Amino acid sequence: MLKEKIQDLFNEPGCDKNQAKSAAERKKGCTTKGLTPGAAAGGCAYDGALIALQPITDVVHLVHGPIACLGNAWDNRHAASSGSQLYRMGFTTDMGELDVVYGGEKKLWKAIRDVIADRDPPAVFVYQTCVPALIGDDIEKVCEAATEKFGRPVVPVNAPGFVGSKNLGNKLGGEALLDYVIGTVEPDDAGPTDVNIIGEYNLSGELWQVKPLLEKLGIRLRACITGDARFQDVATAHRARVNMMVCSQAMINVGRKMQERWGIPYFEGSFYGIEDTSDVLRTMARMLVERGAPADLTDRTEALIAEEEDKAWAAIRAFRPRLEGRKVLLYTGGHKSWSVISALHEVGMEVIRTSVRKATANDKARALDLMDGDESALVGQIPAPEMYRMLEDGEADIMLSGGRTQFIALKARRPWLDINQERHYAYAGYVGMVELVRQLDKAINNPMWALIQKDAPWDEQGQVRTSGGEG
Ligand code: SF4
Repeated sequence: MLKEKIQDLFNEPGCDKNQAKSAAERKKGCTTKGLTPGAAAGGCAYDGALIALQPITDVVHLVHGPIACLGNAWDNRHAASSGSQLYRMGFTTDMGELDVVYGGEKKLWKAIRDVIADRDPPAVFVYQTCVPALIGDDIEKVCEAATEKFGRPVVPVNAPGFVGSKNLGNKLGGEALLDYVIGTVEPDDAGPTDVNIIGEYNLSGELWQVKPLLEKLGIRLRACITGDARFQDVATAHRARVNMMVCSQAMINVGRKMQERWGIPYFEGSFYGIEDTSDVLRTMARMLVERGAPADLTDRTEALIAEEEDKAWAAIRAFRPRLEGRKVLLYTGGHKSWSVISALHEVGMEVIRTSVRKATANDKARALDLMDGDESALVGQIPAPEMYRMLEDGEADIMLSGGRTQFIALKARRPWLDINQERHYAYAGYVGMVELVRQLDKAINNPMWALIQKDAPWDEQGQVRTSGGEG
């Protein structure tokens, strides 16, 4: 059954990239990159499923497997909650050798029973991992029996690590919601301006930077799937009028299947960047009006966009004297390969390279446009020594990237800013882009760089390094 589900996911009509492949290529899945043994963080399908579902804050997330599976994947993304903190508590069946010999189903049953008695959650999500999957533990059967016995949803998330990548795990997490959660509760307050946002995880509170914009327009967020979500919200998500897909690659199957099952149209958008945030609001308002929302929503949206854009650009321009002329190495990928460039240009910064890994054709076209058609500025993977050289030689004054490359910048004694999923600051919407520029200013103009770029007092005579300027 899992095999069939995975094959079904490898054929995604909502994804252009997928549909451009031959049938044989499609069967191999979305990534041809092999998994790295031991690299669970950011690696396996179970990790991807947990990333996608853990932001549902009021349920118990119970990992069925050896304790390392939970330890490797637990809470590494700063998905914030405005209420319950239950989602941040790690629960696992902690399988050992004897469980491998005798099977882990009884242990899982007891864990579900105990956690319901102890925490009284509205639902329990049970995650399958490699070891119980290999010995044949049937989590679907256990969850079905537990749902009946304990009178509340016990949701199997069947995405053991060995079946594929994190991206596949995201989608399998979405499948669990489609099979067991979405559409299981009828809301009594459905309205013409209800929307869902899918693929937004409220990392460091980013959802809270855009939710007030929706509230100002009278648009109700029925469910965010899954940032700062409650089980009940997700269960009633099938009554929204429009779905927005934030990171379409991660949960496109959820948007597409909700359209097929409940007729909810979806669009793809991003809250990174000022123009993109405006595009999202515009598209959302237009689609809602087409589906019965009051017609004045369109004009009110345009007024809000004009007001918010003016405010954001004015706030960003204030940083220009401190950032003008500084050079940035943008090493991220996907949507962010271009969406932050406009703000960097507005403060007079120069983006010397942007990485277009995991970027779609549309992302690449927009990045190229912003880089004045300079194809050499669009790069894929940059080898670590080359990255180090660019920073050390002063070709770049700062690197914006994810945590995995931070030590290259720090070894080169250059500023670095985290803009990937583990970041501690929220960069969504208009206020988020202003915050990004503020953090850039703090990182690049921190007085410590002048100190650490000097040679140690016992080397030479404490000369400031000549290569690359002050940084
Ligand atoms: S599910 Fe498998 S690959 Fe993932 S962390 Fe556990 S043992 Fe490792």
